[in-house]
Amino acid sequence: MHEIYEKFLQDSEKKAFDLEHRSKVNFNISKYNAAVIKGKDQFSNLELARDRAFIIKHKVINNLEKYLIEFVAFFEKRGGKIIWAVDKESAAKEIVSILKKQEARLVVKSKSMTSEEIELNEALEKNEIECLETDLGEYIVQIAGEKPYHIVTPAMHKSKEDIAQLFNEKFNTPLESTPEYITSFVRQKLRSKFISADVGITGGNFLIADIGAVCITENEGNGLLSMSMPKTHIAIVGIEKIIPSLTDLNLYWPLLASFGTGQKITVYNSIVTGPRQEGETDGPEKMYLVLLENKRSEVLKLEKQRVALSCIRCGACLNACPIYRNIGGHAYNTTYSGPIGSVITPHLKGMNEYNHLSYACSLCGYCTQVCPVKIPLHDLLLHNRNDSVNEGFSKPGEKKSMNMMKKFLSKRKRMDMFSMRVKNIGMKMVFKKVWGPRRELPKFAKKSFREMWFEKNGGN
Ligand code: SF4
Repeated sequence: MHEIYEKFLQDSEKKAFDLEHRSKVNFNISKYNAAVIKGKDQFSNLELARDRAFIIKHKVINNLEKYLIEFVAFFEKRGGKIIWAVDKESAAKEIVSILKKQEARLVVKSKSMTSEEIELNEALEKNEIECLETDLGEYIVQIAGEKPYHIVTPAMHKSKEDIAQLFNEKFNTPLESTPEYITSFVRQKLRSKFISADVGITGGNFLIADIGAVCITENEGNGLLSMSMPKTHIAIVGIEKIIPSLTDLNLYWPLLASFGTGQKITVYNSIVTGPRQEGETDGPEKMYLVLLENKRSEVLKLEKQRVALSCIRCGACLNACPIYRNIGGHAYNTTYSGPIGSVITPHLKGMNEYNHLSYACSLCGYCTQVCPVKIPLHDLLLHNRNDSVNEGFSKPGEKKSMNMMKKFLSKRKRMDMFSMRVKNIGMKMVFKKVWGPRRELPKFAKKSFREMWFEKNGGN
């Protein structure tokens, strides 16, 4: 068993039986669920909106090269610099080199899962460059020394009491600090950092092809400050984040807000077309955009799973997933957790290490039902499993036992050859371990359904 898989099993087991964790996550998700109903209310025809969102992203994914070329041409025309990064190491290296050239000592960063993907904070730390998270949730997990727990809500696993305690330990604030007090405390702390930072780093929710712009959506204004106060702005975005036109934001902005946080529209929405132009009063002097590939082409190659690149990272599938809700975000040990993470991670980080995530699913299909861009997530997990078998990643003996099972189960008479007692002993021998110590194995009844049927209706 691979050690990552082993760790996943251990961490999942621990979290699944941590009742305090469960109640915090359920509390936060219940608040999300109540808000989402209101957010979705703004659509007169939600299904039509989701269909359109699916079709547009589908078109983009199937013509990614064309849209990227169009995007880059417009972005460079206004003085933006593109950095193509084939993997996380090269992305981090390029960013560190820009920072070193500018002798940057302090970086302010707004929430970005892509920067998590390239482990930017660790790279900056190694080079003795201070990198400060400015999104409140990210700031909380940063000072706690943790990774984000959720792609939209990084500190979802913490209660307000946990956070008050954390701030008390780190900054000696009152133990009974309210969320309002903590928010204002962090705001005060960050203000001077925005002013003195050398470089601001952000992610990007969409790349708009027909105007060459990066679109950044956030609720706290910290993204806006990170990109506009320092002299240099670096955005890191996955190549799949393209949408064809500025007018498509009409659709994607409300969808992302409704499904992500239950808002009608996110509070701050910025469209950045490059560095400050002549005659403009604000904005950075230089802007770099790191376009991250990092094995996205591996997903693009797959006829079925490529649709997963349509994801707009709203986090709805995580909130819906019974597995995520039980084992929590950290157990996945990946940047992208939950159903979407389970679909893409085996391809982004390697089947050998992350194949098990394709099986971390009950196939209830709720993730597919809630996805605003209609990604058939649970189907894709089945395709992942199929690929993993075809690529030889099944467990030793699995194929043999499946074939035996198929042979045995395909003929009723064969199944009825054995008594109930023998069948139950067989079940115990084969399934007891995988069934686990906390559940009781179902037992065969005295008579099979077939026997009862014929007893009632006659014949055999
Ligand atoms: S797969 Fe769908 S539901 Fe999940 S994060 Fe992406 S867009 Fe949201």
